[in-house]
Amino acid sequence: MEKLYQNSVAHLIFLGDEITDRSVGSDGNRAATRYFEKIISSLGWNTETQEFEAMDWIDGGASLRCGEDSFTVFVSPYSPGCDVAGQLICVSSFEELERAKITGKILLLHGVIAKEQLMPKNFVFYNPEEHQRIISLLESGEPDAIICATGRNASLAGGVYPFPLIEDGDFDIPSVFMTEEEGNRLLLYAGRTVALKSISKRIQGKGYNVIARKGRGSNGRIVITAHIDAKKGIPGAIDNASGVVILLLLAELLKDYAGNKLIEMVALNGEDYYAVPGQMLYIKNNRDRFQEILANINIDGAGYKEGRSAFSFYGLSEDMENDIKEVIQNFDGITEGQQWVQGDHSIFIQNGVPAIAVSSQWFTDHIDSQEITHTPKDNLDIVDCHKLIEIAQALNMFIRK
Ligand SMILES: [Zn+2]
Repeated sequence: MEKLYQNSVAHLIFLGDEITDRSVGSDGNRAATRYFEKIISSLGWNTETQEFEAMDWIDGGASLRCGEDSFTVFVSPYSPGCDVAGQLICVSSFEELERAKITGKILLLHGVIAKEQLMPKNFVFYNPEEHQRIISLLESGEPDAIICATGRNASLAGGVYPFPLIEDGDFDIPSVFMTEEEGNRLLLYAGRTVALKSISKRIQGKGYNVIARKGRGSNGRIVITAHIDAKKGIPGAIDNASGVVILLLLAELLKDYAGNKLIEMVALNGEDYYAVPGQMLYIKNNRDRFQEILANINIDGAGYKEGRSAFSFYGLSEDMENDIKEVIQNFDGITEGQQWVQGDHSIFIQNGVPAIAVSSQWFTDHIDSQEITHTPKDNLDIVDCHKLIEIAQALNMFIRK
Protein backbone atom coordinates (compact mmCIF):
# COMPACT_ATOMS: atom_id res chain seq x y z
CA MET A 1 0.00 0.00 0.00
CA GLU A 2 2.77 2.39 1.02
CA LYS A 3 4.67 1.48 -2.14
CA LEU A 4 1.58 1.96 -4.32
CA TYR A 5 1.12 5.39 -2.78
CA GLN A 6 4.73 6.40 -3.42
CA ASN A 7 4.49 5.15 -6.99
CA SER A 8 1.24 7.00 -7.62
CA VAL A 9 2.80 10.26 -6.41
CA ALA A 10 5.93 9.72 -8.52
CA HIS A 11 3.92 8.96 -11.69
CA LEU A 12 1.63 11.91 -11.12
CA ILE A 13 4.51 14.35 -10.52
CA PHE A 14 6.30 13.18 -13.66
CA LEU A 15 3.25 13.32 -15.94
CA GLY A 16 1.49 16.36 -14.52
CA ASP A 17 4.31 18.58 -13.32
CA GLU A 18 7.77 17.70 -14.67
CA ILE A 19 6.29 17.46 -18.16
CA THR A 20 4.70 20.86 -18.73
CA ASP A 21 2.97 20.06 -22.03
CA ARG A 22 1.44 16.70 -23.02
CA SER A 23 -0.41 18.00 -26.10
CA VAL A 24 -0.25 15.59 -29.05
CA GLY A 25 2.73 16.25 -31.34
CA SER A 26 4.82 17.92 -28.61
CA ASP A 27 8.08 16.66 -27.03
CA GLY A 28 6.30 16.39 -23.68
CA ASN A 29 3.66 14.12 -25.18
CA ARG A 30 6.36 11.80 -26.51
CA ALA A 31 8.11 11.89 -23.10
CA ALA A 32 4.81 10.84 -21.48
CA THR A 33 4.22 7.89 -23.84
CA ARG A 34 7.87 6.77 -23.42
CA TYR A 35 7.45 6.89 -19.63
CA PHE A 36 4.24 4.85 -19.74
CA GLU A 37 5.90 2.27 -21.99
CA LYS A 38 8.99 2.03 -19.78
CA ILE A 39 7.08 1.59 -16.49
CA ILE A 40 4.48 -0.85 -17.76
CA SER A 41 7.00 -3.06 -19.57
CA SER A 42 9.12 -3.14 -16.38
CA LEU A 43 6.03 -4.65 -14.71
CA GLY A 44 6.09 -7.57 -17.13
CA TRP A 45 3.52 -6.40 -19.69
CA ASN A 46 4.09 -6.84 -23.43
CA THR A 47 3.93 -3.47 -25.12
CA GLU A 48 3.22 -2.20 -28.59
CA THR A 49 3.54 1.42 -29.74
CA GLN A 50 1.47 2.72 -32.65
CA GLU A 51 2.88 5.77 -34.43
CA PHE A 52 0.92 8.50 -36.21
CA GLU A 53 1.47 11.98 -37.64
CA ALA A 54 0.40 14.88 -35.41
CA MET A 55 0.82 18.60 -35.88
CA ASP A 56 2.30 20.59 -33.00
CA TRP A 57 1.66 24.29 -32.62
CA ILE A 58 3.56 27.26 -31.17
CA ASP A 59 1.53 30.14 -29.79
CA GLY A 60 3.54 33.33 -30.21
CA GLY A 61 0.66 35.63 -29.20
CA ALA A 62 -1.48 38.02 -31.23
CA SER A 63 -2.46 41.69 -31.32
CA LEU A 64 -5.47 43.53 -32.73
CA ARG A 65 -5.54 47.26 -33.35
CA CYS A 66 -7.87 49.86 -34.80
CA GLY A 67 -6.13 53.23 -35.07
CA GLU A 68 -4.90 54.07 -31.59
CA ASP A 69 -7.04 51.44 -29.87
CA SER A 70 -6.00 47.90 -29.12
CA PHE A 71 -7.84 44.74 -28.03
CA THR A 72 -6.80 41.63 -26.13
CA VAL A 73 -6.90 38.55 -28.35
CA PHE A 74 -5.62 34.97 -28.10
CA VAL A 75 -4.49 32.76 -30.97
CA SER A 76 -6.92 29.93 -31.75
CA PRO A 77 -5.10 26.67 -31.07
CA TYR A 78 -3.48 25.21 -34.22
CA SER A 79 -4.41 28.28 -36.32
CA PRO A 80 -1.94 29.54 -38.93
CA GLY A 81 -0.45 32.98 -38.16
CA CYS A 82 -1.24 36.19 -40.06
CA ASP A 83 -0.37 39.86 -40.48
CA VAL A 84 -3.39 41.49 -42.14
CA ALA A 85 -5.39 44.71 -42.19
CA GLY A 86 -8.92 44.99 -43.52
CA GLN A 87 -12.47 46.14 -42.99
CA LEU A 88 -14.19 44.73 -39.89
CA ILE A 89 -17.44 42.85 -40.61
CA CYS A 90 -19.52 41.70 -37.61
CA VAL A 91 -21.78 38.66 -37.74
CA SER A 92 -23.90 37.19 -34.92
CA SER A 93 -26.04 34.52 -36.59
CA PHE A 94 -25.96 31.93 -39.35
CA GLU A 95 -28.40 34.01 -41.46
CA GLU A 96 -26.18 37.08 -41.15
CA LEU A 97 -23.17 35.01 -42.15
CA GLU A 98 -25.00 33.74 -45.24
CA ARG A 99 -25.74 37.31 -46.35
CA ALA A 100 -22.48 39.03 -45.40
CA LYS A 101 -19.76 39.82 -47.93
CA ILE A 102 -16.72 38.59 -46.06
CA THR A 103 -14.14 37.95 -48.80
CA GLY A 104 -10.87 39.73 -47.99
CA LYS A 105 -12.41 41.21 -44.82
CA ILE A 106 -11.71 40.63 -41.13
CA LEU A 107 -14.71 38.86 -39.67
CA LEU A 108 -15.93 39.14 -36.08
CA LEU A 109 -18.17 36.26 -34.94
CA HIS A 110 -20.11 37.14 -31.78
CA GLY A 111 -23.42 36.36 -30.09
CA VAL A 112 -25.43 33.24 -30.96
CA ILE A 113 -23.11 31.99 -33.67
CA ALA A 114 -20.22 31.99 -31.16
CA LYS A 115 -22.05 30.22 -28.32
CA GLU A 116 -20.78 26.70 -28.95
CA GLN A 117 -17.30 25.52 -29.88
CA LEU A 118 -17.31 24.43 -33.54
CA MET A 119 -16.35 20.79 -33.89
CA PRO A 120 -13.20 20.25 -35.98
CA LYS A 121 -13.91 19.63 -39.67
CA ASN A 122 -12.75 16.05 -39.65
CA PHE A 123 -14.08 15.04 -36.23
CA VAL A 124 -16.31 12.06 -36.90
CA PHE A 125 -17.79 11.15 -33.53
CA TYR A 126 -19.98 14.20 -32.99
CA ASN A 127 -20.36 16.89 -35.61
CA PRO A 128 -23.68 18.76 -35.79
CA GLU A 129 -24.86 19.77 -39.24
CA GLU A 130 -25.05 23.39 -38.08
CA HIS A 131 -21.32 23.43 -37.21
CA GLN A 132 -20.42 21.96 -40.60
CA ARG A 133 -22.53 24.57 -42.41
CA ILE A 134 -20.85 27.42 -40.53
CA ILE A 135 -17.39 26.04 -41.34
CA SER A 136 -18.22 25.64 -45.04
CA LEU A 137 -19.62 29.22 -45.27
CA LEU A 138 -16.40 30.51 -43.65
CA GLU A 139 -14.21 28.53 -46.05
CA SER A 140 -16.13 29.54 -49.18
CA GLY A 141 -16.37 33.17 -47.96
CA GLU A 142 -12.58 33.44 -47.61
CA PRO A 143 -12.19 36.22 -45.05
CA ASP A 144 -8.54 37.20 -44.41
CA ALA A 145 -8.93 36.38 -40.71
CA ILE A 146 -11.58 35.57 -38.10
CA ILE A 147 -12.01 37.04 -34.61
CA CYS A 148 -14.30 35.11 -32.26
CA ALA A 149 -15.84 36.73 -29.16
CA THR A 150 -16.86 33.94 -26.78
CA GLY A 151 -18.13 33.21 -23.28
CA ARG A 152 -18.05 29.82 -21.60
CA ASN A 153 -18.93 26.41 -23.02
CA ALA A 154 -17.89 23.87 -20.37
CA SER A 155 -19.45 20.80 -21.94
CA LEU A 156 -17.55 21.14 -25.24
CA ALA A 157 -14.58 23.38 -24.43
CA GLY A 158 -13.89 22.64 -20.75
CA GLY A 159 -13.73 25.28 -18.02
CA VAL A 160 -11.97 28.05 -19.96
CA TYR A 161 -13.11 31.65 -20.46
CA PRO A 162 -13.08 32.81 -23.18
CA PHE A 163 -13.02 29.55 -25.15
CA PRO A 164 -11.56 29.14 -28.64
CA LEU A 165 -14.53 28.91 -31.01
CA ILE A 166 -12.24 27.30 -33.58
CA GLU A 167 -9.62 24.72 -32.59
CA ASP A 168 -8.79 22.86 -35.76
CA GLY A 169 -5.46 22.18 -37.49
CA ASP A 170 -7.36 21.25 -40.65
CA PHE A 171 -8.98 24.70 -40.93
CA ASP A 172 -6.65 27.13 -42.72
CA ILE A 173 -8.15 30.60 -42.16
CA PRO A 174 -6.17 32.40 -39.41
CA SER A 175 -8.26 33.04 -36.31
CA VAL A 176 -8.07 34.50 -32.80
CA PHE A 177 -10.54 34.70 -29.93
CA MET A 178 -11.44 37.24 -27.25
CA THR A 179 -13.83 37.71 -24.31
CA GLU A 180 -17.43 38.77 -24.84
CA GLU A 181 -16.58 42.10 -23.17
CA GLU A 182 -13.80 42.80 -25.68
CA GLY A 183 -16.16 41.68 -28.44
CA ASN A 184 -18.77 44.23 -27.35
CA ARG A 185 -16.12 46.95 -27.44
CA LEU A 186 -14.92 45.82 -30.87
CA LEU A 187 -18.49 45.93 -32.26
CA LEU A 188 -18.29 49.73 -32.15
CA TYR A 189 -15.55 49.57 -34.80
CA ALA A 190 -17.66 47.71 -37.41
CA GLY A 191 -16.86 48.92 -40.94
CA ARG A 192 -13.52 50.45 -39.95
CA THR A 193 -10.11 49.08 -40.84
CA VAL A 194 -8.54 46.84 -38.18
CA ALA A 195 -5.09 45.24 -38.14
CA LEU A 196 -4.51 41.74 -36.83
CA LYS A 197 -1.12 40.19 -36.27
CA SER A 198 -0.86 36.63 -35.01
CA ILE A 199 2.44 34.89 -34.43
CA SER A 200 1.32 31.31 -34.58
CA LYS A 201 3.15 28.41 -36.14
CA ARG A 202 2.28 24.86 -37.17
CA ILE A 203 5.00 22.19 -36.88
CA GLN A 204 4.87 18.59 -38.09
CA GLY A 205 5.39 16.03 -35.35
CA LYS A 206 4.60 12.48 -34.32
CA GLY A 207 2.59 10.84 -31.59
CA TYR A 208 2.10 7.32 -30.22
CA ASN A 209 -0.54 5.12 -28.64
CA VAL A 210 0.94 2.64 -26.18
CA ILE A 211 -0.81 -0.70 -25.77
CA ALA A 212 0.21 -3.15 -23.03
CA ARG A 213 -1.07 -6.73 -22.89
CA LYS A 214 -1.17 -9.58 -20.39
CA GLY A 215 -3.05 -12.88 -20.16
CA ARG A 216 -3.88 -15.71 -22.54
CA GLY A 217 -6.93 -14.25 -24.16
CA SER A 218 -8.75 -17.53 -24.76
CA ASN A 219 -11.90 -16.01 -23.32
CA GLY A 220 -12.14 -12.53 -24.82
CA ARG A 221 -10.45 -9.23 -24.22
CA ILE A 222 -10.94 -6.50 -21.61
CA VAL A 223 -9.69 -3.09 -22.75
CA ILE A 224 -8.83 -0.46 -20.14
CA THR A 225 -8.21 3.00 -21.57
CA ALA A 226 -7.06 6.42 -20.37
CA HIS A 227 -6.07 9.29 -22.65
CA ILE A 228 -2.51 10.40 -22.03
CA ASP A 229 -2.65 13.76 -23.86
CA ALA A 230 -3.68 17.13 -22.44
CA LYS A 231 -4.58 20.53 -23.84
CA LYS A 232 -1.62 22.63 -24.97
CA GLY A 233 0.39 23.98 -22.03
CA ILE A 234 -2.06 22.77 -19.35
CA PRO A 235 -0.87 20.35 -16.61
CA GLY A 236 -3.96 18.19 -17.15
CA ALA A 237 -3.69 16.51 -13.75
CA ILE A 238 -7.33 15.34 -13.47
CA ASP A 239 -7.70 15.39 -17.26
CA ASN A 240 -6.04 12.97 -17.51
CA ALA A 241 -2.67 12.31 -15.85
CA SER A 242 -4.63 10.70 -13.00
CA GLY A 243 -6.22 8.22 -15.42
CA VAL A 244 -2.82 7.17 -16.73
CA VAL A 245 -1.53 6.80 -13.15
CA ILE A 246 -4.46 4.45 -12.41
CA LEU A 247 -3.50 2.32 -15.45
CA LEU A 248 0.06 2.06 -14.08
CA LEU A 249 -1.16 1.16 -10.56
CA LEU A 250 -3.53 -1.42 -11.99
CA ALA A 251 -0.68 -2.84 -14.10
CA GLU A 252 1.23 -3.29 -10.84
CA LEU A 253 -1.71 -5.02 -9.11
CA LEU A 254 -2.24 -7.30 -12.13
CA LYS A 255 1.48 -8.10 -12.42
CA ASP A 256 0.87 -11.81 -11.71
CA TYR A 257 -2.44 -12.06 -13.62
CA ALA A 258 -2.73 -15.43 -15.32
CA GLY A 259 -6.47 -15.57 -16.00
CA ASN A 260 -8.18 -16.67 -19.20
CA LYS A 261 -8.83 -13.18 -20.53
CA LEU A 262 -6.55 -10.92 -22.50
CA ILE A 263 -6.09 -7.70 -20.55
CA GLU A 264 -5.23 -4.75 -22.75
CA MET A 265 -4.23 -1.40 -21.23
CA VAL A 266 -4.20 1.47 -23.68
CA ALA A 267 -2.75 4.95 -23.24
CA LEU A 268 -4.87 6.52 -25.98
CA ASN A 269 -3.37 9.66 -27.42
CA GLY A 270 -5.60 12.46 -28.67
CA GLU A 271 -8.83 12.88 -26.67
CA ASP A 272 -8.06 16.57 -26.16
CA TYR A 273 -6.60 17.13 -29.65
CA TYR A 274 -8.62 18.30 -32.65
CA ALA A 275 -7.96 15.29 -34.86
CA VAL A 276 -8.16 12.56 -32.16
CA PRO A 277 -5.40 10.68 -34.06
CA GLY A 278 -4.68 7.96 -31.49
CA GLN A 279 -8.35 7.08 -31.19
CA MET A 280 -8.79 7.01 -34.98
CA LEU A 281 -5.81 4.68 -35.32
CA TYR A 282 -7.05 2.38 -32.55
CA ILE A 283 -10.46 2.15 -34.25
CA LYS A 284 -8.84 1.42 -37.61
CA ASN A 285 -6.66 -1.35 -36.14
CA ASN A 286 -9.66 -2.92 -34.39
CA ARG A 287 -12.18 -2.44 -37.17
CA ASP A 288 -13.30 -6.05 -37.39
CA ARG A 289 -12.33 -6.99 -33.87
CA PHE A 290 -14.57 -4.96 -31.59
CA GLN A 291 -16.77 -8.04 -31.06
CA GLU A 292 -13.84 -9.75 -29.25
CA ILE A 293 -13.94 -7.06 -26.59
CA LEU A 294 -15.94 -8.10 -23.52
CA ALA A 295 -15.86 -4.63 -22.00
CA ASN A 296 -14.11 -1.30 -22.08
CA ILE A 297 -13.20 0.50 -18.88
CA ASN A 298 -12.33 4.14 -19.60
CA ILE A 299 -10.79 6.38 -16.96
CA ASP A 300 -11.02 10.15 -17.40
CA GLY A 301 -11.34 12.88 -14.77
CA ALA A 302 -10.75 10.53 -11.82
CA GLY A 303 -9.28 11.30 -8.40
CA TYR A 304 -10.68 14.78 -7.74
CA LYS A 305 -10.05 15.70 -4.10
CA GLU A 306 -13.72 16.56 -3.38
CA GLY A 307 -16.56 14.02 -3.43
CA ARG A 308 -16.45 10.39 -4.45
CA SER A 309 -15.23 8.52 -7.50
CA ALA A 310 -18.08 7.69 -9.89
CA PHE A 311 -18.42 4.53 -11.98
CA SER A 312 -21.09 4.67 -14.70
CA PHE A 313 -22.31 1.76 -16.83
CA TYR A 314 -23.22 1.44 -20.51
CA GLY A 315 -24.84 -1.66 -21.97
CA LEU A 316 -23.34 -4.13 -19.48
CA SER A 317 -24.79 -7.63 -19.25
CA GLU A 318 -26.75 -8.26 -16.08
CA ASP A 319 -23.96 -10.47 -14.68
CA MET A 320 -21.28 -7.94 -15.38
CA GLU A 321 -23.30 -5.08 -13.92
CA ASN A 322 -23.96 -7.11 -10.76
CA ASP A 323 -20.26 -7.94 -10.48
CA ILE A 324 -19.08 -4.35 -10.74
CA LYS A 325 -21.78 -3.10 -8.36
CA GLU A 326 -20.77 -5.74 -5.84
CA VAL A 327 -17.13 -4.70 -6.17
CA ILE A 328 -17.70 -0.99 -5.62
CA GLN A 329 -19.69 -1.70 -2.45
CA ASN A 330 -16.35 -2.67 -0.87
CA PHE A 331 -15.00 0.84 -1.36
CA ASP A 332 -16.31 3.80 0.63
CA GLY A 333 -14.98 6.33 -1.85
CA ILE A 334 -16.69 4.87 -4.93
CA THR A 335 -20.30 5.22 -5.99
CA GLU A 336 -22.43 4.63 -9.08
CA GLY A 337 -22.54 7.86 -11.08
CA GLN A 338 -24.63 9.28 -13.90
CA GLN A 339 -23.82 8.50 -17.52
CA TRP A 340 -21.77 10.97 -19.59
CA VAL A 341 -20.61 10.75 -23.19
CA GLN A 342 -17.64 13.11 -23.60
CA GLY A 343 -14.95 10.46 -23.29
CA ASP A 344 -13.25 7.58 -25.07
CA HIS A 345 -15.73 5.00 -23.75
CA SER A 346 -18.09 6.42 -26.44
CA ILE A 347 -15.86 4.86 -29.11
CA PHE A 348 -16.49 1.42 -27.65
CA ILE A 349 -20.20 2.00 -27.01
CA GLN A 350 -20.64 3.14 -30.64
CA ASN A 351 -19.00 -0.12 -31.74
CA GLY A 352 -21.35 -2.23 -29.65
CA VAL A 353 -18.97 -2.88 -26.74
CA PRO A 354 -20.29 -2.61 -23.16
CA ALA A 355 -18.42 0.02 -21.15
CA ILE A 356 -17.68 1.34 -17.67
CA ALA A 357 -16.59 4.97 -17.32
CA VAL A 358 -14.58 6.00 -14.27
CA SER A 359 -14.53 9.63 -13.23
CA SER A 360 -15.14 11.91 -10.25
CA GLN A 361 -18.72 12.50 -9.17
CA TRP A 362 -18.04 16.22 -8.73
CA PHE A 363 -17.07 16.54 -12.42
CA THR A 364 -19.91 14.50 -13.88
CA ASP A 365 -22.36 16.50 -11.72
CA HIS A 366 -20.88 19.81 -12.94
CA ILE A 367 -20.05 18.83 -16.52
CA ASP A 368 -21.82 21.91 -17.98
CA SER A 369 -20.58 24.47 -15.46
CA GLN A 370 -17.16 23.49 -14.07
CA GLU A 371 -14.29 25.95 -14.56
CA ILE A 372 -11.32 23.61 -14.06
CA THR A 373 -10.58 21.30 -17.00
CA HIS A 374 -8.45 22.73 -19.82
CA THR A 375 -7.28 25.51 -17.46
CA PRO A 376 -4.18 25.89 -15.24
CA LYS A 377 -6.42 25.03 -12.25
CA ASP A 378 -6.25 21.40 -13.39
CA ASN A 379 -2.97 20.80 -11.54
CA LEU A 380 -1.60 18.37 -8.96
CA ASP A 381 -3.22 20.24 -6.05
CA ILE A 382 -6.67 18.91 -6.95
CA VAL A 383 -5.75 15.20 -7.17
CA ASP A 384 -6.07 12.80 -4.22
CA CYS A 385 -3.71 9.84 -4.79
CA HIS A 386 -5.59 7.68 -2.26
CA LYS A 387 -8.56 7.79 -4.63
CA LEU A 388 -6.39 6.65 -7.53
CA ILE A 389 -5.26 3.63 -5.49
CA GLU A 390 -8.83 2.86 -4.44
CA ILE A 391 -9.99 2.87 -8.08
CA ALA A 392 -7.06 0.66 -9.16
CA GLN A 393 -7.91 -1.80 -6.37
CA ALA A 394 -11.58 -1.90 -7.36
CA LEU A 395 -10.72 -2.52 -11.03
CA ASN A 396 -8.22 -5.21 -10.02
CA MET A 397 -10.94 -6.97 -8.02
CA PHE A 398 -13.44 -6.68 -10.89
CA ILE A 399 -11.03 -7.99 -13.55
CA ARG A 400 -10.09 -11.00 -11.42
CA LYS A 401 -13.78 -11.89 -10.92
ZN1 LIG B 1 -10.21 14.03 -20.74
